[in-house]
Amino acid sequence: MTFHIVTIFPEFFTGPFNHGVIAKAQAAGKLEIRIHDLRHWTRDRHRTVDDRPFGGGEGMLLKPQPLFKAVEAILPERTSKQKVILLSAQGMPFRQRMARQFSELEDLLLICGRYEGVDERVAQHLVDDEVSIGDFVLSGGELAAALIIDSVARLLPDVLGNEDSSRNESFTEDNEGLLDCPQYTRPAEFRGWKVPGVLLGGNHEEIKRWRQAASREKTERLRPDLLGGRQIRKA
Ligand code: SAH
Repeated sequence: MTFHIVTIFPEFFTGPFNHGVIAKAQAAGKLEIRIHDLRHWTRDRHRTVDDRPFGGGEGMLLKPQPLFKAVEAILPERTSKQKVILLSAQGMPFRQRMARQFSELEDLLLICGRYEGVDERVAQHLVDDEVSIGDFVLSGGELAAALIIDSVARLLPDVLGNEDSSRNESFTEDNEGLLDCPQYTRPAEFRGWKVPGVLLGGNHEEIKRWRQAASREKTERLRPDLLGGRQIRKA
């Protein structure tokens, strides 16, 4: 799979993808991340990407022309295996299910907004979707792009060491859309806090039942919104 990022700050991305499984997967050719400098598609001497909003108001907006040119040059065909996304505080909320859908694509192109945002014609006529990473306002789409690529990349075949490790996680269908269960490692007792005995026993059925119940209990406590009115059996 190839990820494309269109940004006015290409150097922002020298850090985020150079660690752990994402770095390894790139080195092994399992995924590619191409960073595109939006100014490359400007024509004027100052390489202008922004302009003042019609109707007045604070700040500047990214102009439509360089963004349209960039996307049309990077993905000239626009097949159903490609998606173009505008990062935006006004977009659909990014969820694990969306990450899983994106991981089926051949190309995912992410447009990073800056300043006060982006000319609305980009949202309406250039991109497939507007996507938000949460109900807060960032100063630019770059962090959002890095976050989305991280979560999609780890779902690609052979990126995580063990295929199962992306299955039984928080928000996945295998986990009924709930939070992952609490996990423990050695020592079995730390500062007087003991690991639940059932996990030390080796009875796989019992461990499975305990994990399901603990996962439901934690979801009820921290993210009741994920339950959507479902009944909870007490652990
Ligand atoms: N005026 C806009 C915010 C602009 S912030 C508003 O009030 O909705 C500048 C850029 O940061 C946006 O164009 C977008 O690309 C990015 N951004 C800000 N918040 C974001 C969020 N929650 N999710 C994804 N991208 C975001």
